[in-house]
Amino acid sequence: MLGNQQGKSLRRYVPDYVVYDLETTGTSCKRDKIVEIAAIKVIGGKATEEFSSLVNPECPIPYGASQVNGITDEMVAGEPVLHDVLPRFLEFVGELPLVGHNIISFDMKFIYRECREVFKKIPDNDLVDTLPLARLCLPELAHHRLTDLAEHYHLSTAGAHRALKDCQMTMQVYEELGKALAGAMKQAKTCPRCGGILELRNGRYGRFWGCSGYPSCRYTENA
Ligand SMILES: [Zn+2]
Repeated sequence: MLGNQQGKSLRRYVPDYVVYDLETTGTSCKRDKIVEIAAIKVIGGKATEEFSSLVNPECPIPYGASQVNGITDEMVAGEPVLHDVLPRFLEFVGELPLVGHNIISFDMKFIYRECREVFKKIPDNDLVDTLPLARLCLPELAHHRLTDLAEHYHLSTAGAHRALKDCQMTMQVYEELGKALAGAMKQAKTCPRCGGILELRNGRYGRFWGCSGYPSCRYTENA
């Protein structure tokens, strides 16, 4: 569970996993703090158990962050601090792969930073980021935010941006992507430099194909 290196990043459907989401005081994984953690344990594609906790960040929550997630200073005042919530979260997760939307670039960075501080180690659970899976399976969509995907699959987005609701949406999205993934992988363009999968991305000058191995592989080609 806790180790010295990150788990593997998986690009496939796994039926047993924990989907999780964080709400934070902002977008900096160096400075900002966690204000909510939620997770759902999924076994055989079915939700079996939920975890949800507000977290007192021990600092004021910026107005802009409260506007997004609806979490205010008053709401977290009497809540446990992260040092108390983090061990309970990790115990809930156990050895299962962690699934989430954009977790590689965002949520995992917060979790790794805080675990390094508290435990001097990081979780070595395998990871499934639904953002690259969505880009692969649904290249026709202009954007791949969680709410875009929920709308695409006609899922309810009421209550979005609170952690447990986002977990429910991510779980449903992952289950849908799982059905499309094998076919999408077969048709996927591969990177001539590293053999990784090429993803359609939005750049300043329009759409282009970029290697999913970015930033270690920087191969691109015109779409
Ligand atoms: Zn590559």
